[in-house]
Amino acid sequence: PAGSILRRQRERESSARTYARSFPIVPARAQGMVVEGVDGRRYLDCLSGAGSLALGHNHPVVREALRRTLDSGAPLHVLDLATPEKDDFTDALFATLPKGFADRARIHFCGPAGTDAVEAALKLTQTATGRRGVLAFTGAYHGMTAGALAASGTVAVKERVAGGGAGEVTRLPYPYAYRCPFGVGGEGGTDLAVTYAERLLDDPAGGVVPPAAMILEAVQGEGGAVVAPDRWLRAMRRITSERDIPLIVDEVQTGVGRTGAFWAVEHSGVVPDVMVMSKAVGGGLPMAVIVYDERYDGWLPGAHTGTFRGNTLAMAAGAATLRYVAREGLVARAAAVGAWMTARLEELRGALPVIGDVRGRGLMIGVELVDVAGPLDACGAYPADPDLARRVRAACLERGLIVELGGRYDATLRLLPPLTITDEEAGEVVERVAEAVAAVVA
Ligand code: PMP
Repeated sequence: PAGSILRRQRERESSARTYARSFPIVPARAQGMVVEGVDGRRYLDCLSGAGSLALGHNHPVVREALRRTLDSGAPLHVLDLATPEKDDFTDALFATLPKGFADRARIHFCGPAGTDAVEAALKLTQTATGRRGVLAFTGAYHGMTAGALAASGTVAVKERVAGGGAGEVTRLPYPYAYRCPFGVGGEGGTDLAVTYAERLLDDPAGGVVPPAAMILEAVQGEGGAVVAPDRWLRAMRRITSERDIPLIVDEVQTGVGRTGAFWAVEHSGVVPDVMVMSKAVGGGLPMAVIVYDERYDGWLPGAHTGTFRGNTLAMAAGAATLRYVAREGLVARAAAVGAWMTARLEELRGALPVIGDVRGRGLMIGVELVDVAGPLDACGAYPADPDLARRVRAACLERGLIVELGGRYDATLRLLPPLTITDEEAGEVVERVAEAVAAVVA
């Protein structure tokens, strides 16, 4: 049946299909990290619903929460009315918030997708400040609706739509150590990115539309698992505070323990003004929220509405996931397994020079593939090799490993396994990546 299902999908679905092109499989069952196709083939899943399955597929606590909610007869869809499930979810979420934030936090339920919450965050800060501009970063990904797309840095995702979205965005350099924006590596490069941002914002002829907000990811996910140094994040906090610009941290992909902190911004000690959350926060069901400092709560009733803001099942699955991650120490576990995997991949880099860079934080890991025949850039990096990366992705799939690409040039393997990954599975993932790369360059 796999062949005919794939064929019918190709014929009937839009040409904008993405993952389905990279992974021509038909999943029938899934448990934890393992996905099984209708043909019985088994795969280790390092995509995890684009990072939304913190506990992997069909985790017992999520299934139990869903079953309990269904059996209770609770209404499944309530717009933004009060429900016990929403109250419980909010309790669970507020218990995870960074210190110094929870006591001043307000939550707004935005709709099913991360991009809805990004739009809400931008509108909230525009309303609160009366300003229109947005400060965003090279390599950023925030979503596919107009404002979120405008804030994204990756040109490739914008070129696919005419116009490229709305918003008066000033783009600032993200500190990407491997392909450093100023041709200087290490802390020197980071400091240059800070100085550039500061000078530009204060330049009366810099062309910066007065910013309502700065929006950033503490680790760029779609951007290729690029980790911002903590000192840079602290500098962005200082720069925005000094200029009275709200700081929005997009935790859609980094949140719920993935980077080895419950929220990635916590590594730096920075307290943001707005946090954007989706993916894992709904336990694998559609949900997106913003949590923000109450002093920005200047919205009039109805300022940002939407039909699907009260998904009872998502609240139940989300609350169960948040509590399980906290209770079972999965945040520390993500840090430890992630460090172990990153170290093994780093060893592999020594043996296979086409692996140009291994980076990440916790279980958000990137392996950038390069063309060693090409010229070195100012930072000593070879050109990215998207063609090689595509062949490695295919070789991984042949070996039963689902791993997607991302990053500038689409040349970075992005490993996003569930936080519940076992030691054995972690070893298996690294081994299959090693075999795939070795097979492709052989
Ligand atoms: N922000 C970030 C950091 C993301 O990684 C994503 C999705 N990859 C989004 C926003 C958009 O989320 P969604 O796809 O649910 O709209």
